[in-house]
Amino acid sequence: MRPVIGATATLLLLGHPAPDVFAGAAEYDVDVDVEERAVERLLSVEPADVDTPRSLTFARNVFIPLTTACRYTCTYCTYYDVPGEASLLSPTEVRDQCRVGADAGCTEALFTFGDAPDARYTAIHEQLDAWGFEDIHDYLYRACEIALAEGLLPHSNPGDLTEAQFETLRDVNASMGVMLETTADVDAHSGSRRKTPGQRLHTIRAAGKHGVPFTTGILVGIGEDWRDRAESLLAIRELHERYGHVQEVIVQNVVPNERSDFPKPGLETMRRVVAMARAALPPEVSVQVPPNLSPAAELVDCGIDDLGGVSPVTDDYINPAYAWPDLDGLRAVADAGGLALRERLPTYGRYLPSDLRPSDTSPAPAPAQSKGESWLSSRIRDRIRADDVHGRRLRAVARGDGPLDPQPAGDARASDGSRSR
Ligand code: SF4
Repeated sequence: MRPVIGATATLLLLGHPAPDVFAGAAEYDVDVDVEERAVERLLSVEPADVDTPRSLTFARNVFIPLTTACRYTCTYCTYYDVPGEASLLSPTEVRDQCRVGADAGCTEALFTFGDAPDARYTAIHEQLDAWGFEDIHDYLYRACEIALAEGLLPHSNPGDLTEAQFETLRDVNASMGVMLETTADVDAHSGSRRKTPGQRLHTIRAAGKHGVPFTTGILVGIGEDWRDRAESLLAIRELHERYGHVQEVIVQNVVPNERSDFPKPGLETMRRVVAMARAALPPEVSVQVPPNLSPAAELVDCGIDDLGGVSPVTDDYINPAYAWPDLDGLRAVADAGGLALRERLPTYGRYLPSDLRPSDTSPAPAPAQSKGESWLSSRIRDRIRADDVHGRRLRAVARGDGPLDPQPAGDARASDGSRSR
C-alpha cells in the first residue's frame, strides 16, 4: 500500500477560539482543521493503492427504531415522520423485539433514531412524560437496560449528543455512533432546523473524551464534492488520533427514495472513495460499506474489512426498500475477495478486556479522561461475562471463533432448562 499520509500530523490543530473552518465549528468550539497537503495526497488515491484486508467482519443485530421523531428534515431521509405521525416504541415493544433478536442469535440491539424531537412533537413528549421519562435520552437509557436484560449489547445511534449525555449513556452501551456524513455545508441539510458538520464533529469529539468506542462515517452523493470527502475522512482521522475511539468508518452511498432525487453514486465513485477512506484512516480503524446499499463484492479490493450490522430479523428501517443479505449473501461478498468471514460484537475486539479479546488483537490505548483502564462499563462487561446462554454466545463471538451459523438462543435456553436473566 502506498504511504499516502505521512507519519507526521496530517491536520493543523488550531488554538481557541475555534475558527469556523466547517459550518458550525465555531459555535461548537471544534478545533479541527484539515491540512491542504493531506487533502491533495488523499485526492490522488486510487483503488490500486490500497491493500485488500485479511478478513471481513459483520455484527448480527436487531434494529430497534425507538422513535421516528426527529428535529431535522434532511432532504434524502425517509426515516423521520412528521409530528402527529411519528412513532415511539413502548417498553414492552422494545423488550419483545430484543427477545426476538436474542432468540435469533443476535448480539447487538441497534437503537436508532433521529435527533431529539423538538417542541413540535407534542404527542411524543406527552407519552414519554406519561411513562415517567424526562426525554428521549432518558428513555433510551431504559431501553438499553431492557436489551441488556434480554442478553443483547446495546449500540445506540441517537444523533448528536453532549458530553454529559455520553457520560450517562456509556454506562449501558457497548458502543455508539453517529454519521458525520460530510464536513461540507450542503443544501441537503438546509432549512430552518439543520444539523451542521460542526455539531457532528463536536459529538464525535465528545464520544472520544468520554471513552466510547465509536462508529461514524460519510454519506456519499448528497451534494458534497471530492475535496469534501477527503476533508471529512481526515477530520475523522484527526479525532481518532486524539482519543483512539473510532472503531469503524462507514462509507455509505445515498440511495434514491420517495423523498430524494439524489442519484445513487456509480461504482467507480464508490471504489475511489472507499480506497480514500482506507488510505486516510489508520489500519486499526475498519472501513465498512452497508451490503444492502452498496455493491460490496466489487469493493472488497478497495480496502473494506467490515459489512456492518446485519439483521436476520428486522428491516433496515433507515433504508426499508433495501433488504439485508442473508449469511450466504455475506459469504458471497467475502468469497469475492478471497476473505474469511467473521462475526464480531458491536464493540470491536481491541476495546474488549484482555480475557474477552481475540488472541490476535492488540488492545486499544487506554481511554481518555477518567474512565480507568476500560473502554466498557462494568454493566457491559458483566453482561458479556454472565454465566448464561447469552453470555456464552457473546463471549464466543468476542473471541472471533463464531457463531456464524447461530444456534438459536431459544433452543439453547431449552437445553439450559431456563431463561437466563
Ligand atoms: S438523516 Fe437523521 S438527522 Fe436527518 S432527518 Fe433523517 S433521522 Fe433526522
